[in-house]
Amino acid sequence: MTTNKFIGKLLKLKGLLVVSLAFRKGNHLQIAVKPYKNGCRCQACGRRGKIIRTFSEPRWWRDVPVGGWTVWFLYYPREILCPTHGRGLEAIPWADGYVRVTYRYEYVMLRYCQLMTQKAAAQLLHIPISTLSDQLHRAIRRIRSGHRIRGLKTLGVDEIAYSKGHKYATLVYDLDRSVVVWAGEGKGRETIDKFFNSALSDYQKKAITAGCCDMSDAYIGAIRAHCPNATLVLDRFHIVKALNAAVDEVRKEQWREAVAEDRKALKGLRWLLYRHFFTRSRKDTRTLKGLEKANNRIYRAWRLKDEFEQFWEYKATWAAERFIKNWMTSTMRSRLDPMKKFVGTLRKHYSGILAFIDTRLTNAVSEGLNRIVKIVKNRASGFRTLNAFTDMIYLVSGDVDIPAQISPRFRIL
Ligand SMILES: [Zn+2]
Repeated sequence: MTTNKFIGKLLKLKGLLVVSLAFRKGNHLQIAVKPYKNGCRCQACGRRGKIIRTFSEPRWWRDVPVGGWTVWFLYYPREILCPTHGRGLEAIPWADGYVRVTYRYEYVMLRYCQLMTQKAAAQLLHIPISTLSDQLHRAIRRIRSGHRIRGLKTLGVDEIAYSKGHKYATLVYDLDRSVVVWAGEGKGRETIDKFFNSALSDYQKKAITAGCCDMSDAYIGAIRAHCPNATLVLDRFHIVKALNAAVDEVRKEQWREAVAEDRKALKGLRWLLYRHFFTRSRKDTRTLKGLEKANNRIYRAWRLKDEFEQFWEYKATWAAERFIKNWMTSTMRSRLDPMKKFVGTLRKHYSGILAFIDTRLTNAVSEGLNRIVKIVKNRASGFRTLNAFTDMIYLVSGDVDIPAQISPRFRIL
């Protein structure tokens, strides 16, 4: 085996031949390569063409780093004449058109970014993080280009903040597959209309049987307007959030009215009142029981909230309906205004809330998505740009398995 063949085998270089090697300052390994079997193939049809000229400037491609070396491919591409497609640059087997990194590199980069932070991925790939973001964006955009949504039956719509500066994106989910099919800037009717008008055909809109969203008029209105056959389901998380906000409103009222010594008993209640009974400790239960005497209004608000949890457990719509009617009656008698206001919300969205019982639909999509949302919340500024955010969304929970779109012979992880 010659040295060049050995290097080719060691680095698992397929579809190309090693011509020569050079080690350069700064831990760079340059490998002059050429396409296996002399190349000269047309980019469009793959047939062999006649060489017109060889470019005098070499092109460089970044490959996956090995043993601490940053690896570069070097080649002088040729312009060829295809009998069908005319003049053009020959096909480069190891990289897409004018991309300056190899397919192998793209595959590794995409997989790393699925598994770890971009900062860690950039370190392993020996590049600055800004370069990684650019490369990632270009690869994802290319791989997803021409993508069509398929088989969408249950749709979810949600708004999500991607930056602390109140920048919002609208995400559309395929709830049967728990994936994101579309992401767009903004959170209003205009954004969601853009999705329906650009991403779905009329036939596809008619095929949608259920749509899940929050209680905003924008999303409800859009689903009603575009999906004639869809049952509207309101997202459980948003209803619970509205109920929690009502309980918290009662707490705040009491806090404002309380004198200094009574405030002590109300300290640290905020998160406890939110807590679901599954995650409540014994001490929590004692504190809440103590509230019955310490502050009866907060206690009653919390009790009502706690009772409401039952609603989600019902399997039959008629039983759930009986429950919610009783609950609304007792809440209206509670003399707690924020809670009564919540009953108003329930009445307004009655059918959409009840539709959960039959469909069991919520917008809780994938673990991957939760991870991204956590990054937004933990980082000081979230994602600076919408592109950086949607790239990560598509990569970890999109409807296209992006690394799998790269040919198996370049998947070296
Ligand atoms: Zn051709």
